Amino acid sequence: MNTEFESVIGLEVHAQLLTSTKIFCGCSTKFGNPPNSNVCPICLGHPGTLPVLNKKVVEFAVMLGLATNCSINERSIIARKNYFYPDLPKGYQISQFEEPICENGFIEIELEDKSKKKIRIKRIHMEEDAGKLIHDQGDDTLVDLNRCGTPLLEIVTEPDISNAKEAYSYLSSLKQILTYLEICDGNMEEGSLRCDANISIRPKGTIELGTRTEVKNMNSFRNVERAIDFEIERQIELVEEGGEVIQQTLLWNADLNEAFPMRGKEESHDYRYFPDPDLVPVVVDEIWKSELEKRLPELPQKRKVRFVTEYGIPEYDSEVLTSEKEIADYFEETVKTTKNYKSASNWIMVDVLKVIKDEKISITDFKLSPENLGKLINLINSNIISGKIAKEVFPEILKSNVDPEIIVKEKGLIQISDTSEIEKAIDEIISQNEKQVEEYKSGKDKVFGFFVGQVMRATKGKANPQIVNDLLKQKLSS
Ligand code: ADP
Ligand code: MG
Ligand code: ZN
Repeated sequence: MNTEFESVIGLEVHAQLLTSTKIFCGCSTKFGNPPNSNVCPICLGHPGTLPVLNKKVVEFAVMLGLATNCSINERSIIARKNYFYPDLPKGYQISQFEEPICENGFIEIELEDKSKKKIRIKRIHMEEDAGKLIHDQGDDTLVDLNRCGTPLLEIVTEPDISNAKEAYSYLSSLKQILTYLEICDGNMEEGSLRCDANISIRPKGTIELGTRTEVKNMNSFRNVERAIDFEIERQIELVEEGGEVIQQTLLWNADLNEAFPMRGKEESHDYRYFPDPDLVPVVVDEIWKSELEKRLPELPQKRKVRFVTEYGIPEYDSEVLTSEKEIADYFEETVKTTKNYKSASNWIMVDVLKVIKDEKISITDFKLSPENLGKLINLINSNIISGKIAKEVFPEILKSNVDPEIIVKEKGLIQISDTSEIEKAIDEIISQNEKQVEEYKSGKDKVFGFFVGQVMRATKGKANPQIVNDLLKQKLSS
């Protein structure tokens, strides 16, 4: 058989919302409290209790819908999804089914060749999370219901994604939007962002969708990529050997780099969805919607374009700086102090981000204020210190946010631009290194660097490099 196959992918993402209380009761959503302490009769599913929808959850859902070009349904229905599992004491999950709060949006992703592609979003709905089973503490399985009722948004794409790279790119964009909106921390490793991948293959160029499998349990972006690649390959091999893909749910095993069947895929009729009689339809009128629209921050794609036009920095810089809202904020604070935008961009992309990466902190925990970074950049630009000295000052000021102007004065690091002082140093070095002078004169340009190094050393790095260069050239060729 010589059929070529193409893959088709649709993603279902669960985003845990940053509300302080749960979706239908006042219990705390705080992570890490003792097991079964953040619970009450409502989230424990006791008979006779009544859920009350958390307004924040609706607001967050609408904000995400607006940010992803969805239409917001004025009226949406809360439904019960019935199934039994030990981490779900009510025997049903409260979710949305036929009329979700947001529908028909899209997120634009950038492909490797820099072209853009729209990934359509089918729906976004609100739902509650289930509890957690703990299997690794002795022989018994334990149940922690703290997570029961934690608010989630489920974001479902159309099957518009063609490969693992596109899936990665979609997830990054979605995470970026969620974190810009400050409605989810986007942490996949900790489970606040979870992704299930629906995957099928079909002969290249055909339209009809093949039978899909659903892969779950990937806890990082990389693992989503790997799991998708694995599953595409498995399906192609299977079909090429004359087999048939069966609709099922697979679990990704990151250690083995393989996905294993977990269960046959359930159909929606298995869940016997029906509108929850305890909860009225959710109504989002125009007034509320436009209020929420006004609350939207500038979104990442827009901000990226603005950085290029407003600050004249390269697109690459802008991409890095706007990758996280807090980094972009830090940059914009820095350029309130210095007008050297490209320099500010370089310092943040290279020096600041390195510290953050090395120390595994977030930029919000970075001690050096944008103002002091701006001042450091200004000291270089106005030739008060050399770039080299600045690199030495930086680690000294960042721990306790020291004003670089003070440390430069205190330590006498001000650049020597006084030509007579530099000349004196050059004369001395030239007289001490006759051999190298001969070499230079006989055409070995490389020794020039040696002289620069010697002068810089003699002046403890404080000599203005431009003046050193000019004077050295003059003196060596005379
Ligand atoms: P459910 O998983 O609850 O049955 P849907 O039928 O809405 O929900 O589909 C879930 C996801 O699977 C969506 O992202 C959809 O785009 C995707 N999907 C559906 N059919 C296929 C297919 N044949 N191949 C790949 N993805 C698919
Ligand atoms: Mg599904
Ligand atoms: Zn509760």
